[in-house]
Amino acid sequence: MGEFRVGVIGGGQLARMMLVPAIELGINLKVFAEAEGSSASLGVTQVGDYTRIEQIAEFAKTVDVITFDHEHVPISVLEALEADGVKVQPPSKALNFAQNKLSMRLRLNEIGVAMPRWAAVETAAELDSFIAENDGKAVVKTPIGGYDGKGVRMVTSSKDVADWLKPVQLAKSGGKLLVEEKVAFVREVAQLSARTPSGEFKPWPLVQTTQVNGVCDEVVSPAPGATPQLHMRAAEMANQIAKGLGVTGVFAVEMFETEDGRLLVNELAMRPHNSGHFSIEGSVTSQFEQHLRAVLDLPLGDTAARAEVALMMNLLGVDDEVDFFNGFDAALAAYPSAKIHTYGKSPRQGRKMGHVTVLGESLASCRAQAEGCAMILRSL
Ligand code: ADP
Repeated sequence: MGEFRVGVIGGGQLARMMLVPAIELGINLKVFAEAEGSSASLGVTQVGDYTRIEQIAEFAKTVDVITFDHEHVPISVLEALEADGVKVQPPSKALNFAQNKLSMRLRLNEIGVAMPRWAAVETAAELDSFIAENDGKAVVKTPIGGYDGKGVRMVTSSKDVADWLKPVQLAKSGGKLLVEEKVAFVREVAQLSARTPSGEFKPWPLVQTTQVNGVCDEVVSPAPGATPQLHMRAAEMANQIAKGLGVTGVFAVEMFETEDGRLLVNELAMRPHNSGHFSIEGSVTSQFEQHLRAVLDLPLGDTAARAEVALMMNLLGVDDEVDFFNGFDAALAAYPSAKIHTYGKSPRQGRKMGHVTVLGESLASCRAQAEGCAMILRSL
Protein backbone atom coordinates (compact mmCIF):
# COMPACT_ATOMS: atom_id res chain seq x y z
CA MET A 1 0.00 0.00 0.00
CA GLY A 2 1.24 3.45 -0.85
CA GLU A 3 1.60 6.02 1.85
CA PHE A 4 0.19 9.52 2.13
CA ARG A 5 2.47 11.94 3.96
CA VAL A 6 1.21 15.30 5.22
CA GLY A 7 3.46 17.92 6.83
CA VAL A 8 1.88 20.40 9.23
CA ILE A 9 3.69 23.61 10.12
CA GLY A 10 2.92 24.54 13.72
CA GLY A 11 2.63 22.33 16.78
CA GLY A 12 -0.55 23.72 18.37
CA GLN A 13 -3.81 22.03 19.28
CA LEU A 14 -5.02 21.96 15.66
CA ALA A 15 -2.02 19.84 14.60
CA ARG A 16 -2.60 17.72 17.72
CA MET A 17 -6.22 17.07 16.74
CA MET A 18 -5.19 16.12 13.16
CA LEU A 19 -3.16 13.24 14.59
CA VAL A 20 -6.16 11.08 15.51
CA PRO A 21 -7.78 10.89 12.03
CA ALA A 22 -4.30 10.57 10.49
CA ILE A 23 -3.78 7.41 12.55
CA GLU A 24 -7.26 6.13 11.67
CA LEU A 25 -6.78 6.67 7.93
CA GLY A 26 -3.15 5.51 7.96
CA ILE A 27 -1.84 8.89 6.86
CA ASN A 28 1.72 9.65 7.93
CA LEU A 29 1.38 13.05 9.62
CA LYS A 30 4.57 14.93 10.46
CA VAL A 31 4.62 18.12 12.48
CA PHE A 32 7.13 20.98 12.31
CA ALA A 33 6.89 22.63 15.72
CA GLU A 34 8.35 25.89 16.94
CA ALA A 35 9.42 24.45 20.30
CA GLU A 36 9.91 21.23 22.20
CA GLY A 37 6.96 20.06 24.27
CA SER A 38 4.29 21.54 21.98
CA SER A 39 0.64 20.52 22.00
CA ALA A 40 1.23 18.22 18.98
CA SER A 41 4.49 16.75 20.34
CA LEU A 42 3.35 13.18 19.61
CA GLY A 43 3.65 13.92 15.90
CA VAL A 44 6.63 16.26 15.87
CA THR A 45 9.46 15.24 13.55
CA GLN A 46 11.28 18.58 13.42
CA VAL A 47 11.61 21.55 15.77
CA GLY A 48 12.68 24.84 14.28
CA ASP A 49 11.92 28.31 13.04
CA TYR A 50 9.13 28.48 10.44
CA THR A 51 10.42 31.78 9.11
CA ARG A 52 13.63 30.09 7.91
CA ILE A 53 13.24 28.78 4.37
CA GLU A 54 16.11 26.28 4.61
CA GLN A 55 14.52 24.60 7.66
CA ILE A 56 11.07 24.42 6.08
CA ALA A 57 12.52 23.18 2.78
CA GLU A 58 14.25 20.32 4.62
CA PHE A 59 10.96 19.42 6.32
CA ALA A 60 9.07 19.61 3.00
CA LYS A 61 11.34 16.93 1.50
CA THR A 62 9.88 14.40 3.97
CA VAL A 63 6.21 14.85 2.95
CA ASP A 64 3.90 15.01 -0.09
CA VAL A 65 2.07 18.18 0.89
CA ILE A 66 2.58 21.02 3.37
CA THR A 67 -0.30 22.47 5.37
CA PHE A 68 -0.75 24.55 8.51
CA ASP A 69 -1.75 24.73 12.14
CA HIS A 70 -1.52 28.54 11.99
CA GLU A 71 -1.40 31.29 9.37
CA HIS A 72 1.89 32.97 10.28
CA VAL A 73 4.40 31.40 7.90
CA PRO A 74 5.82 34.25 5.79
CA ILE A 75 4.38 34.28 2.27
CA SER A 76 7.93 34.59 0.86
CA VAL A 77 8.85 31.23 2.46
CA LEU A 78 5.79 29.57 0.93
CA GLU A 79 6.44 31.10 -2.48
CA ALA A 80 9.99 29.75 -2.39
CA LEU A 81 8.66 26.27 -1.58
CA GLU A 82 6.10 26.45 -4.38
CA ALA A 83 8.77 27.61 -6.83
CA ASP A 84 10.66 24.46 -5.86
CA GLY A 85 7.65 22.29 -6.78
CA VAL A 86 6.42 21.65 -3.21
CA LYS A 87 2.64 21.29 -2.85
CA VAL A 88 1.37 23.86 -0.34
CA GLN A 89 -2.33 23.70 0.65
CA PRO A 90 -3.78 26.26 0.99
CA PRO A 91 -1.44 27.90 -1.53
CA SER A 92 0.46 31.10 -0.72
CA LYS A 93 -1.79 33.27 -2.88
CA ALA A 94 -4.82 32.23 -0.83
CA LEU A 95 -3.10 32.34 2.56
CA ASN A 96 -1.99 35.89 1.87
CA PHE A 97 -5.63 36.98 2.32
CA ALA A 98 -5.79 35.31 5.74
CA GLN A 99 -2.63 37.09 6.90
CA ASN A 100 -3.76 40.59 6.07
CA LYS A 101 -7.27 41.78 6.92
CA LEU A 102 -7.02 44.68 4.46
CA SER A 103 -6.04 42.47 1.52
CA MET A 104 -8.90 40.19 2.51
CA ARG A 105 -11.43 43.05 2.54
CA LEU A 106 -10.19 44.31 -0.84
CA ARG A 107 -10.45 40.88 -2.44
CA LEU A 108 -13.88 40.14 -0.96
CA ASN A 109 -15.03 43.48 -2.31
CA GLU A 110 -13.83 42.53 -5.79
CA ILE A 111 -15.80 39.27 -5.75
CA GLY A 112 -18.90 40.96 -4.35
CA VAL A 113 -19.22 39.43 -0.87
CA ALA A 114 -21.39 41.24 1.72
CA MET A 115 -19.32 42.81 4.52
CA PRO A 116 -19.51 45.55 7.14
CA ARG A 117 -18.75 49.02 5.67
CA TRP A 118 -14.98 49.45 5.91
CA ALA A 119 -12.05 51.68 4.95
CA ALA A 120 -8.27 51.74 5.10
CA VAL A 121 -7.02 54.73 7.11
CA GLU A 122 -3.60 56.23 7.76
CA THR A 123 -4.36 59.35 9.78
CA ALA A 124 -6.44 60.43 12.77
CA ALA A 125 -8.42 62.77 10.49
CA GLU A 126 -9.36 59.96 8.09
CA LEU A 127 -10.40 57.78 11.01
CA ASP A 128 -12.47 60.52 12.67
CA SER A 129 -14.34 61.24 9.45
CA PHE A 130 -15.20 57.50 9.08
CA ILE A 131 -16.43 57.47 12.69
CA ALA A 132 -18.53 60.61 12.07
CA GLU A 133 -20.11 58.99 8.99
CA ASN A 134 -20.96 55.87 11.02
CA ASP A 135 -23.00 57.21 13.96
CA GLY A 136 -19.97 58.10 16.06
CA LYS A 137 -18.63 54.60 16.54
CA ALA A 138 -16.43 52.10 14.71
CA VAL A 139 -14.19 49.07 15.09
CA VAL A 140 -10.49 49.53 14.34
CA LYS A 141 -8.28 46.56 13.48
CA THR A 142 -4.58 46.10 12.88
CA PRO A 143 -4.47 44.37 9.48
CA ILE A 144 -1.60 42.04 10.39
CA GLY A 145 -0.95 39.72 13.33
CA GLY A 146 -4.19 40.02 15.35
CA TYR A 147 -5.92 36.99 16.87
CA ASP A 148 -8.49 36.25 19.57
CA GLY A 149 -9.55 39.90 19.64
CA LYS A 150 -6.02 41.24 20.07
CA GLY A 151 -5.65 43.94 17.46
CA VAL A 152 -9.38 44.79 17.55
CA ARG A 153 -10.66 47.90 19.35
CA MET A 154 -14.11 49.46 19.63
CA VAL A 155 -13.68 53.22 19.27
CA THR A 156 -15.62 56.48 19.33
CA SER A 157 -12.63 58.67 18.45
CA SER A 158 -9.21 58.35 16.84
CA LYS A 159 -7.82 59.08 20.32
CA ASP A 160 -8.80 55.52 21.30
CA VAL A 161 -6.14 54.17 18.95
CA ALA A 162 -3.59 56.99 19.26
CA ASP A 163 -0.93 54.35 20.06
CA TRP A 164 -1.68 52.39 16.84
CA LEU A 165 -1.48 55.58 14.77
CA LYS A 166 2.08 56.37 15.88
CA PRO A 167 4.45 55.98 12.89
CA VAL A 168 6.42 53.03 14.32
CA GLN A 169 3.29 51.12 15.27
CA LEU A 170 1.55 51.97 12.00
CA ALA A 171 4.53 50.65 10.04
CA LYS A 172 4.14 47.31 11.87
CA SER A 173 0.54 47.16 10.57
CA GLY A 174 1.71 47.66 7.00
CA GLY A 175 1.17 51.45 7.04
CA LYS A 176 -2.62 51.39 7.37
CA LEU A 177 -5.35 50.46 9.82
CA LEU A 178 -8.63 48.81 8.91
CA VAL A 179 -11.74 50.56 10.21
CA GLU A 180 -15.21 49.03 10.06
CA GLU A 181 -18.73 50.07 10.96
CA LYS A 182 -19.71 48.63 14.33
CA VAL A 183 -22.29 46.06 13.25
CA ALA A 184 -25.34 45.73 15.51
CA PHE A 185 -25.49 41.99 14.94
CA VAL A 186 -28.11 39.71 16.48
CA ARG A 187 -25.51 36.98 16.71
CA GLU A 188 -22.25 35.71 15.29
CA VAL A 189 -22.23 32.61 13.10
CA ALA A 190 -19.55 30.65 11.27
CA GLN A 191 -19.60 28.62 8.09
CA LEU A 192 -17.08 25.82 8.06
CA SER A 193 -16.33 24.04 4.80
CA ALA A 194 -13.64 22.26 2.83
CA ARG A 195 -12.44 22.47 -0.74
CA THR A 196 -9.99 20.23 -2.56
CA PRO A 197 -7.42 21.36 -5.16
CA SER A 198 -9.63 19.58 -7.75
CA GLY A 199 -12.56 21.79 -6.72
CA GLU A 200 -14.78 19.50 -4.62
CA PHE A 201 -16.55 21.62 -2.00
CA LYS A 202 -18.40 20.47 1.11
CA PRO A 203 -19.91 22.64 3.85
CA TRP A 204 -20.96 21.72 7.38
CA PRO A 205 -24.20 23.23 8.73
CA LEU A 206 -23.95 26.89 9.78
CA VAL A 207 -23.02 27.19 13.49
CA GLN A 208 -23.64 29.87 16.12
CA THR A 209 -20.55 31.20 17.90
CA THR A 210 -20.37 33.24 21.09
CA GLN A 211 -17.30 35.33 21.86
CA VAL A 212 -16.39 36.59 25.34
CA ASN A 213 -13.77 39.36 25.38
CA GLY A 214 -13.02 38.62 21.72
CA VAL A 215 -12.36 34.91 22.38
CA CYS A 216 -14.64 32.06 21.27
CA ASP A 217 -16.53 30.69 24.28
CA GLU A 218 -19.27 28.47 22.87
CA VAL A 219 -20.28 26.97 19.51
CA VAL A 220 -23.69 25.45 18.77
CA SER A 221 -24.32 23.31 15.70
CA PRO A 222 -26.56 23.80 13.85
CA ALA A 223 -27.12 27.54 14.53
CA PRO A 224 -30.42 27.54 16.51
CA GLY A 225 -33.39 28.63 14.42
CA ALA A 226 -31.44 28.82 11.16
CA THR A 227 -33.71 28.15 8.20
CA PRO A 228 -32.64 25.85 5.34
CA GLN A 229 -32.35 29.04 3.24
CA LEU A 230 -29.91 30.60 5.71
CA HIS A 231 -27.78 27.43 5.74
CA MET A 232 -27.78 27.43 1.95
CA ARG A 233 -26.95 31.11 1.66
CA ALA A 234 -24.01 30.79 4.08
CA ALA A 235 -22.67 27.73 2.26
CA GLU A 236 -22.95 29.54 -1.08
CA MET A 237 -20.99 32.48 0.33
CA ALA A 238 -18.25 30.13 1.56
CA ASN A 239 -18.08 28.44 -1.83
CA GLN A 240 -17.86 31.79 -3.61
CA ILE A 241 -15.04 32.89 -1.26
CA ALA A 242 -13.18 29.60 -1.58
CA LYS A 243 -13.28 29.81 -5.37
CA GLY A 244 -12.56 33.53 -5.50
CA LEU A 245 -9.57 33.34 -3.19
CA GLY A 246 -8.30 29.91 -4.27
CA VAL A 247 -8.66 28.37 -0.80
CA THR A 248 -8.02 24.67 -0.28
CA GLY A 249 -8.39 22.55 2.85
CA VAL A 250 -10.78 23.30 5.67
CA PHE A 251 -11.61 26.93 6.19
CA ALA A 252 -13.98 28.98 8.30
CA VAL A 253 -15.92 32.10 7.40
CA GLU A 254 -16.93 34.06 10.51
CA MET A 255 -20.02 36.19 9.91
CA PHE A 256 -22.42 38.57 11.61
CA GLU A 257 -26.15 37.89 11.27
CA THR A 258 -28.12 41.12 11.32
CA GLU A 259 -31.67 41.80 12.44
CA ASP A 260 -32.86 42.07 8.83
CA GLY A 261 -31.39 38.62 8.06
CA ARG A 262 -28.20 39.66 6.26
CA LEU A 263 -24.93 37.76 6.62
CA LEU A 264 -21.85 40.01 6.69
CA VAL A 265 -18.40 38.45 6.51
CA ASN A 266 -16.11 39.33 9.40
CA GLU A 267 -13.09 37.03 9.26
CA LEU A 268 -11.59 34.11 7.36
CA ALA A 269 -9.47 31.29 8.77
CA MET A 270 -7.76 29.00 6.26
CA ARG A 271 -7.31 25.92 8.44
CA PRO A 272 -9.39 23.89 10.85
CA HIS A 273 -10.97 26.34 13.26
CA ASN A 274 -12.33 26.60 16.79
CA SER A 275 -15.85 26.90 15.34
CA GLY A 276 -15.44 23.35 13.94
CA HIS A 277 -14.27 21.42 17.00
CA PHE A 278 -17.86 20.23 17.52
CA SER A 279 -17.45 18.14 14.35
CA ILE A 280 -15.09 15.65 16.05
CA GLU A 281 -18.10 13.99 17.70
CA GLY A 282 -20.95 15.95 16.08
CA SER A 283 -20.40 15.13 12.39
CA VAL A 284 -19.89 12.01 10.32
CA THR A 285 -16.57 13.54 9.23
CA SER A 286 -14.60 15.81 11.56
CA GLN A 287 -12.93 18.96 10.32
CA PHE A 288 -9.53 17.40 11.08
CA GLU A 289 -10.17 14.32 8.94
CA GLN A 290 -11.67 16.52 6.22
CA HIS A 291 -8.63 18.77 6.21
CA LEU A 292 -6.31 15.80 5.63
CA ARG A 293 -8.54 14.50 2.84
CA ALA A 294 -8.75 17.93 1.25
CA VAL A 295 -5.04 18.81 1.25
CA LEU A 296 -4.27 15.37 -0.22
CA ASP A 297 -6.92 15.97 -2.91
CA LEU A 298 -8.84 12.87 -1.79
CA PRO A 299 -12.66 12.64 -1.95
CA LEU A 300 -14.31 14.53 0.94
CA GLY A 301 -16.32 12.85 3.70
CA ASP A 302 -19.98 13.29 4.66
CA THR A 303 -20.56 16.33 6.88
CA ALA A 304 -24.02 15.32 8.14
CA ALA A 305 -24.78 15.83 11.83
CA ARG A 306 -24.80 12.88 14.21
CA ALA A 307 -27.18 14.51 16.71
CA GLU A 308 -29.89 17.16 16.85
CA VAL A 309 -27.54 19.49 18.73
CA ALA A 310 -23.77 19.57 19.23
CA LEU A 311 -22.44 22.11 21.71
CA MET A 312 -18.77 22.91 22.23
CA MET A 313 -17.46 24.99 25.10
CA ASN A 314 -13.87 26.21 25.30
CA LEU A 315 -11.78 25.68 28.41
CA LEU A 316 -9.67 28.79 28.87
CA GLY A 317 -6.84 28.90 31.38
CA VAL A 318 -7.93 30.40 34.69
CA ASP A 319 -4.42 31.33 35.89
CA ASP A 320 -0.94 29.79 35.97
CA GLU A 321 -1.98 27.40 38.74
CA VAL A 322 -5.28 25.75 37.85
CA ASP A 323 -4.49 22.60 35.94
CA PHE A 324 -7.60 21.04 34.43
CA PHE A 325 -6.33 17.63 35.38
CA ASN A 326 -6.95 18.49 39.03
CA GLY A 327 -10.66 18.13 38.39
CA PHE A 328 -10.40 15.52 35.69
CA ASP A 329 -11.70 12.51 37.65
CA ALA A 330 -14.56 14.51 39.13
CA ALA A 331 -15.62 15.86 35.70
CA LEU A 332 -15.45 12.44 34.06
CA ALA A 333 -17.55 11.00 36.88
CA ALA A 334 -20.17 13.76 36.93
CA TYR A 335 -20.63 14.07 33.14
CA PRO A 336 -20.09 10.69 31.49
CA SER A 337 -21.59 11.86 28.16
CA ALA A 338 -19.39 14.93 27.86
CA LYS A 339 -16.37 14.59 25.59
CA ILE A 340 -13.42 16.32 27.24
CA HIS A 341 -10.45 17.38 25.13
CA THR A 342 -7.24 18.73 26.64
CA TYR A 343 -4.43 20.22 24.59
CA GLY A 344 -1.42 19.36 26.75
CA LYS A 345 -0.48 22.98 27.42
CA SER A 346 0.80 24.51 30.63
CA PRO A 347 -1.88 26.69 32.23
CA ARG A 348 -1.96 30.43 31.63
CA GLN A 349 -4.78 32.90 32.10
CA GLY A 350 -6.98 33.10 28.99
CA ARG A 351 -5.05 30.42 27.07
CA LYS A 352 -7.07 27.84 25.12
CA MET A 353 -6.39 24.75 27.25
CA GLY A 354 -9.04 22.39 25.91
CA HIS A 355 -12.73 22.08 25.14
CA VAL A 356 -15.81 20.05 26.03
CA THR A 357 -18.40 18.82 23.53
CA VAL A 358 -21.85 17.48 24.38
CA LEU A 359 -24.29 15.98 21.86
CA GLY A 360 -28.01 15.74 22.56
CA GLU A 361 -31.54 16.56 21.64
CA SER A 362 -31.91 19.89 23.38
CA LEU A 363 -29.68 22.94 23.50
CA ALA A 364 -30.53 23.60 27.14
CA SER A 365 -29.47 20.14 28.27
CA CYS A 366 -26.25 20.16 26.20
CA ARG A 367 -25.35 23.58 27.57
CA ALA A 368 -26.09 22.60 31.17
CA GLN A 369 -23.85 19.55 30.88
CA ALA A 370 -21.01 21.42 29.16
CA GLU A 371 -21.19 24.27 31.69
CA GLY A 372 -21.27 21.88 34.63
CA CYS A 373 -18.35 19.92 33.29
CA ALA A 374 -16.32 23.06 32.49
CA MET A 375 -17.07 24.46 35.93
CA ILE A 376 -15.59 21.41 37.68
CA LEU A 377 -12.52 21.48 35.44
CA ARG A 378 -11.98 25.19 35.96
CA SER A 379 -12.56 25.40 39.67
CA LEU A 380 -10.55 22.62 41.23
P1 ADP B 1 -9.65 38.31 15.65
O1 ADP B 1 -9.01 38.18 14.31
O2 ADP B 1 -8.73 38.81 16.71
O3 ADP B 1 -10.46 37.11 16.07
P2 ADP B 1 -12.09 39.63 14.76
O4 ADP B 1 -11.97 40.52 13.59
O5 ADP B 1 -12.70 38.28 14.56
O6 ADP B 1 -10.67 39.51 15.49
O7 ADP B 1 -12.91 40.40 15.90
C1 ADP B 1 -13.08 39.85 17.21
C2 ADP B 1 -14.50 40.10 17.70
O8 ADP B 1 -14.77 41.51 17.74
C3 ADP B 1 -15.56 39.54 16.78
O9 ADP B 1 -15.80 38.18 17.03
C4 ADP B 1 -16.76 40.43 17.13
O10 ADP B 1 -17.36 40.00 18.33
C5 ADP B 1 -16.11 41.78 17.35
N1 ADP B 1 -16.11 42.55 16.07
C6 ADP B 1 -15.16 42.53 15.11
N2 ADP B 1 -15.49 43.32 14.07
C7 ADP B 1 -16.68 43.88 14.37
C8 ADP B 1 -17.57 44.80 13.69
N3 ADP B 1 -17.25 45.33 12.50
N4 ADP B 1 -18.72 45.13 14.30
C9 ADP B 1 -19.06 44.62 15.53
N5 ADP B 1 -18.27 43.76 16.21
C10 ADP B 1 -17.09 43.38 15.65
